[in-house]
Amino acid sequence: MKYYSLNHNAPKVSFKEAVIQGLASDKGLYFPENITALDASFFDKIESLSNEEIAFEAIKQFVGDEIPAEKLKEIIAETLCFDFPVVKVENGIYSLELFHGPTMAFKDVGARFMSRCLAYFNKDKKDSKNTVLVATSGDTGGAVASGFLSVDGVDVVILYPSGKVSDIQEKQLTTLGQNIKALEVDGVFDDCQDMVKKAFLDETLAHKNLTSANSINIARWLPQMFYFFFAYKALKSQNKHLVFSCPSGNFGNICAGIMAKKLGLPIEHFVASTNVNDTVPRFLENGKYDPKPSKATISNAMDVGNPSNFIRIQELYNNDLKAFEKDFSSYSYTDEETLVALKQIYNTDGYIAEPHGAVGYLGLKKELEKHPNAIGIFLETAHPIKFLDVVEPALGITLPIPAQIESVINEEKVSVKISSYEELKAFLG
Ligand SMILES: *Cc1c(COP(=O)(O)O)cnc(C)c1O
Repeated sequence: MKYYSLNHNAPKVSFKEAVIQGLASDKGLYFPENITALDASFFDKIESLSNEEIAFEAIKQFVGDEIPAEKLKEIIAETLCFDFPVVKVENGIYSLELFHGPTMAFKDVGARFMSRCLAYFNKDKKDSKNTVLVATSGDTGGAVASGFLSVDGVDVVILYPSGKVSDIQEKQLTTLGQNIKALEVDGVFDDCQDMVKKAFLDETLAHKNLTSANSINIARWLPQMFYFFFAYKALKSQNKHLVFSCPSGNFGNICAGIMAKKLGLPIEHFVASTNVNDTVPRFLENGKYDPKPSKATISNAMDVGNPSNFIRIQELYNNDLKAFEKDFSSYSYTDEETLVALKQIYNTDGYIAEPHGAVGYLGLKKELEKHPNAIGIFLETAHPIKFLDVVEPALGITLPIPAQIESVINEEKVSVKISSYEELKAFLG
C-alpha cells in the first residue's frame, strides 16, 4: 500500500516510510492510495470473530506486506489487551467505553499499535534511533509514554501546555522516566502542535529521525477504526441504524470511524461533538474554514483550534460537501452545558461519564432527534478518574482510584519548561 501527501507535493511512500516520517516533506498528512471495502461475508459473520480477528481484517490492507501477517497479528493482540464494552445508558443510547487500557483513554489503542510497528521497523537498526515528538492536549502524552516506554531504539519527547492538563494526565506523562521526556510549554495546545510541526520540517534536525505519534501518524490514526467495528458487533443483533457521536478535538477518532464506514461498516450517521473550540461546527454552518486559537475548557483533550484530521475527512468524501453533510453533523457545547449533561447522565441514568463523553452525549441526543429509530452510541473516550477535579464536585461523589492510576499518582513529576521553538531545538540537540 502506498500513501500520498494531502498537499500533493511530496513522493508517495510505503506504510513503513509513512509511519517513520509521520508527516510528508510538504507538511501534508499521508493518506492511503486505495481503500477497498471488506467483503459482505465479513460483516455477515462478524459476531463469530474475535476482536483480534476483526482488527486484522480491518487493517491488513493498509499495512500490506510490510509487516508479515503473523507479526501483525501479534502486534494487534498486544494492542487490544483490554475490553471495549458497549454499555446501555438509556433506551436507545449506549456508551462505547474506550478507557479500559493502561492509561485509561482511547489513545492507548493507537499508541500501542504505533509503538509496536515502529519497534518492528527498527529491529535491525541498532546504531540509529528514532525520536517520537508529540504534542498533547492531555491524553496522547500519557498513552504515548506508556505505549513507547522502554521500546528499543526510540526516544520520546512530549510537549504539553503548562497548567492546561489535569493532574493525573500530567503525572502519566512526566513520571515514567527511561526513554520518555516531558517538555512543559508556556502556551496552549496549538503552540505545542505548531512547534512539533516546525521541528519535522527543520532540516537541521534531520539526524534525529523525528516522527510524530499524534493522530497525524497513520499508525496512530488507523487502528482507531477497530472499536467502531467492535461496537457494531455488539449491537448488530438489534438490527437498527447506528449513529455514532465522537467527542472531537483533532478529529482523528471520528475520521477513523468514517474510514470504517468506507470499509463497509454500516454506520448511518456521524456526529462530531466539540466544546467551544468549534471550528468544524462553524464550517458546517457557514462554509468557511476559519481556525481560531484554542480556548481552555473542562474537556481539555478537545481544546484544538485547528483540527489536523479534518482534511482527511474531506478526502474520504472526495471533497464532496453534499455527500459529507449527509453523513456528518457537528455541534458545539459550552462547559456549562457539559456540566448539566454530566449531572443529568448521573442522576437520571446512574452512569458516571466525564466531560468529553458528556459532550459526545449532548451531540448524540441532538442528532437522534432526526433519527428516531436509530441506536445512538457516544464514545466515552476517557475514564472519569482522569477528570476527577471536574467529575467529583459536579456529581458530589468520590471516585475509587483504579490500579493504572494508583501506580503513577504518587510519583514525582519531571519536566523541562520551554517557551519557544529555539528552546525545543536546543533540547533535541
Ligand atoms: C484525544 C481525546 C479526544 C479527541 O480525539 P480526537 O481524535 O483528537 O478528535 C476526546 N476525548 C479524549 C478523552 C481524548 O483524550
